[in-house]
Amino acid sequence: MKNPDAVIIFPPPMDRIARVYPAPHFLSSFINSNGFSARPLDLNIIALGKLTSPFFLDKEIKTAASNRARLEKSGLHSQKEKDVYAASLRSFARLLYGRRIHSDHHHIKNLMDMENCGIRYTRIFIDLFKKYFGLFYNTNIPDSEDIKTFFSCPEAILIKDLLNEEIQRSIIDKQIPVIGFSIPFAQQFLPAMILASEIKKKMQDVHICFGGPIITLLSETYLKEVIKTAPVDAFVTYDGEMPLLRLLRYKLQGQALDGTKNVILRNALNKSTDPSAAARHQKDKAVHTHNRFQKENMGYFSKNTPIPVTQSTGCYWKKCAFCDYINLHKDKIYRPRPVNDIIADIQYYHSLKFTNFRMLAEAIHPKHANEIATALLDNNLNISWHSFLRVDEGFTTKILQSMEMSGFSCTVGMESANACILQTLNKGYDKKIIKRFFENLRSASLKNNHLNVIVGTPGATYDQELETLAFCREYTDIFTQFKAGIFTLTPTSDMGKNPHKYGLRIKESGTDNQPLHGRIASLAFDDPGGMTHEKKLRILERYGQLNKEIKNRKKFNGCLDIISAARSGADIKGAAFVFEKFLVRQRLMHHAFKKQGEFMVANMSENRDHQVFIDKQQADVMDILRDSIFSCQDVMAITQDENTALDFIKKMAAGNVIKAADIDHGIQ
Ligand code: SF4
Repeated sequence: MKNPDAVIIFPPPMDRIARVYPAPHFLSSFINSNGFSARPLDLNIIALGKLTSPFFLDKEIKTAASNRARLEKSGLHSQKEKDVYAASLRSFARLLYGRRIHSDHHHIKNLMDMENCGIRYTRIFIDLFKKYFGLFYNTNIPDSEDIKTFFSCPEAILIKDLLNEEIQRSIIDKQIPVIGFSIPFAQQFLPAMILASEIKKKMQDVHICFGGPIITLLSETYLKEVIKTAPVDAFVTYDGEMPLLRLLRYKLQGQALDGTKNVILRNALNKSTDPSAAARHQKDKAVHTHNRFQKENMGYFSKNTPIPVTQSTGCYWKKCAFCDYINLHKDKIYRPRPVNDIIADIQYYHSLKFTNFRMLAEAIHPKHANEIATALLDNNLNISWHSFLRVDEGFTTKILQSMEMSGFSCTVGMESANACILQTLNKGYDKKIIKRFFENLRSASLKNNHLNVIVGTPGATYDQELETLAFCREYTDIFTQFKAGIFTLTPTSDMGKNPHKYGLRIKESGTDNQPLHGRIASLAFDDPGGMTHEKKLRILERYGQLNKEIKNRKKFNGCLDIISAARSGADIKGAAFVFEKFLVRQRLMHHAFKKQGEFMVANMSENRDHQVFIDKQQADVMDILRDSIFSCQDVMAITQDENTALDFIKKMAAGNVIKAADIDHGIQ
């Protein structure tokens, strides 16, 4: 098989693996349709696969076991020591679980499947992640002169160790002439530089270009400075397809490098000396601009993977004051893709047995959403699809009904329900409009949707945030999750560019210490009229509780309160339970914990702080009933005592260790 002309790399670290990032695949598909050959290379998955291999996990388990033994020996006198010990038990449980589910052939598929069904990969291996990649998550994009100082840090050495073999096999041995790095998240910037430097050391003539959202959002001045010394030949901003095609034509065919808009080059490129390459590539026009995952590159995808399908570029509203996404598209024009192309993509993936789709769109327009839904129904495509929506009365009940029938669910970027906050954010709607929009969603029976909320908008007060929270509580039939996050001031948003307009003062230090969540940086600011960080955290906690209530309601068929208040087995007669599937149990060795119980159980589909302590008798009951559907009466038959049985059910239910066996099975 011919070696590819280009390889498009997705560098580590990116902790969500079930959502495959499409750019390397789409760019490759585009290049392959235009006379050259390219392939995506997911170095993130390869690095994570190695970090979670038995070799690494066994080493980690050994270290975790000796930490645990050390803590047990030390006595656990203070509450702090007990908390550290409890955290070490959870960490140990996650590693053991990771080791248990490992199977060499389907390792990555298993991990993707787990994430798809709610067990986040990083939740299990979060400590590994923090340990190995924490530096990259916590470091802002550095000044140009500092980039090289990261090339020999321990994290860089590890990344090279994990990936050298793959780089040698897929790039160096094949002497790939053009390498692209696709960088959507800030934590990938430095690892991409480290890997580019390694490739350059072995192949001086290679052409390396960096592109993706992070490169697009960095300033031209910065990129021009960096390229003088970095192991990069070109930075590509905005869409990468045509610049990459032109670079290949230049490099391999010796064509003039004209039309280099959106490309910052280090030097003039060397012309190809391979005449056969020039003869091979005659086309000078792009054949297609819509892109797909190609079958041969989807081998490791789980069948549940939500497949990204481009729906539009740009946003049809583009006025939100906090938004930096709109700057990812040069002219900021909203361009929906033709519905036929979208349906053709879905039919193609459907023929490969994929049925779960995620529209790539800042916010889908009602008219376009309606046309897609109608076409899906007309073509009898039995799939599920998801998109971001903005609150928009254009989504009538009729449109939403047809979207619902076609398998639609959404994430709505409401952000707030308070009039002042909505005005500050310039969302373009008020509470009345939100209410009418939500009523439409309700009438159309759209369920299992998510709602985004921003906590701590400049000037927002605690009471205003509580108003939004109370409003959210009225719509738990429509939304299964309220995704609340703390406001970040991004440098390229209107608020970041004009802080004085919003009563903000940028702090001297410039950047915030908040987690970056893949962004370039968040600006630190003083907000005299706003809330303290502690208050923002309190609001977040309350959204966490609300999400938990919704989850528990579903898990126990709305009867958790009846179970908690039950005085006798008769009160929950007829209720049937099963144990959660993803449990890890371990015996406790320290006497401080033996008072609470002798075992710790962690439910891996719960949040990472989850753990429940149980005693020996409860552990024995668990063993007997492990694979059965059981009632309180069944537990009584084992314990010979009604109160003990009832306590067992209550404890397991409160600790999310069991769930209702059949959600249609109510308590009599
Ligand atoms: S936040 Fe969403 S709706 Fe608002 S401008 Fe940005 S992309 Fe558009």
